[in-house]
Amino acid sequence: MKYNIALLRGDGIGPEIVDSAVEVLKKIGEKYGHEFTFTPYLAGGCAIDATGVPLPDETVKGCKESDSVLLGAVGGPKWDTLAGNLRPERALLGVRSALGLYTNIRPAKLYQSLKAECPLRADIVEKGVDLVMIRELTGGIYFGERGRRKGENGEEAYDTECYSTMEIERIARAAFETAMKRERKSVISIDKANVLESSRLWREVVHKVAAEYPEVTCTDMLVDNAAMQLVKNPSQFDVVVTSNMFGDILSDESSQVTGSIGLLPSASLGDTKCGMYEPIHGSAPDIAGQNKANPIATILSAAMMLRYSFDLEDEARCIEKAVNDVLEAGYRTADILGTSKEAPLSCTEMTAKILEFIK
Ligand code: NAD
Repeated sequence: MKYNIALLRGDGIGPEIVDSAVEVLKKIGEKYGHEFTFTPYLAGGCAIDATGVPLPDETVKGCKESDSVLLGAVGGPKWDTLAGNLRPERALLGVRSALGLYTNIRPAKLYQSLKAECPLRADIVEKGVDLVMIRELTGGIYFGERGRRKGENGEEAYDTECYSTMEIERIARAAFETAMKRERKSVISIDKANVLESSRLWREVVHKVAAEYPEVTCTDMLVDNAAMQLVKNPSQFDVVVTSNMFGDILSDESSQVTGSIGLLPSASLGDTKCGMYEPIHGSAPDIAGQNKANPIATILSAAMMLRYSFDLEDEARCIEKAVNDVLEAGYRTADILGTSKEAPLSCTEMTAKILEFIK
């Protein structure tokens, strides 16, 4: 099969880690007989430097015409003082909205070989962490009505949380479909239904969708309790579904439970097979251009692309197994070195190890 992939290398460590994932995809192509073609496009700070805008029209067109999009990361201190609509991060929102990507999927898994990296108590770590956070990505308070006005006590500012039945239904369905493919078949829906009307509608609609999936257990949890449970007893979570803002906050919390930001992938999906895949971390300007970045999060994002956009489950698992085996064998980049006295592998050395383990 032939697949066209748009590459948004972006800024900072973006080009290094995307090149690593490309190497891995090429190897998978050779092994399983697929042809991946890669077309680079500008996005983020590098696009601002070259064209004056963070997301040139050509990039949007290229992403729309491709079978899927692989992104490194965008941003850096060089562009920090620009106005909001000219910031590199606008590129992410632009691609999400151009491709209609309303579902964000972030798995957070604690590798057995990296238990020492987990900041939680040993008895909690022992039970393991293997959850998938499904966050609504294009609605809620980040997109609701906002503004400033004169109030009795001076200036006021407001943001509005608004969700339609349709928006809740489609994200709930994504969560239940994900749960159906997992062993535990459990969904925990996180809201603030004791206070917010939007959360009460969220809960009603999630329950309606749940009725279509009798094999999946569905539980509600209030967001304040969820924040606590994620550090107290993270092993209880299998699939988590939540709104845009709650998901933004809780997915960062769940990622930290697993130890390193350099390991975690993500997928953003809509109604078509074309999605955007990216590591959860940023452009790490402090280590950019030094060949120190951990490429694993981006390589695992490529594995998610194979699974969700191309339905290549065996190929995705092959990458995930290679990563697991490399970590089990004790190979480490600097960010996951812990107390080891060994010299860390560089980005290219870690990539080479993973290629070696994809037999
Ligand atoms: P960051 O994730 O870039 O870095 C935080 C820390 O983690 C740094 O010490 C960095 O060196 C380290 N780190 C991150 N990824 C790593 C990797 N793969 N291997 C080893 N170490 C890694 O977050 P930040 O410093 O807050 O942000 C830097 C820039 O990235 C900012 O401009 C921010 O806006 C942008 N950003 C972009 C995205 C994105 O493109 N999706 C996401 C978050 C932040």
